[in-house]
Amino acid sequence: MSYVRNIALAPNEGCTCPGCKSWLDHWERKTRRTALICGATDCRKPAMLGGHVRVSGNPVSHYVVPLCKACSERTDEFYVDKELVSSECEKNSRVW
Ligand SMILES: [Zn+2]
Ligand SMILES: [Zn+2]
Repeated sequence: MSYVRNIALAPNEGCTCPGCKSWLDHWERKTRRTALICGATDCRKPAMLGGHVRVSGNPVSHYVVPLCKACSERTDEFYVDKELVSSECEKNSRVW
């Protein structure tokens, strides 16, 4: 389980991996799992997007985890129990 906080992204900052259609897709491809429910342990609504988070206490970390819309807009810190996937894209990899 990880304690995380949302990172605000510009809306046009899509995943640039060849083959990823969205950040949720990015998470599914990296983990080879299907994102069904929101990763927040106190939520459990259907996962709608790949949320961008950093681990509490580590300001330079940047991961993708499945979240629902509401949880992607949270400003508090919360626990997620889904795998955290690096937000770095294949090829055009960016330094965050
Ligand atoms: Zn990707
Ligand atoms: Zn949620």
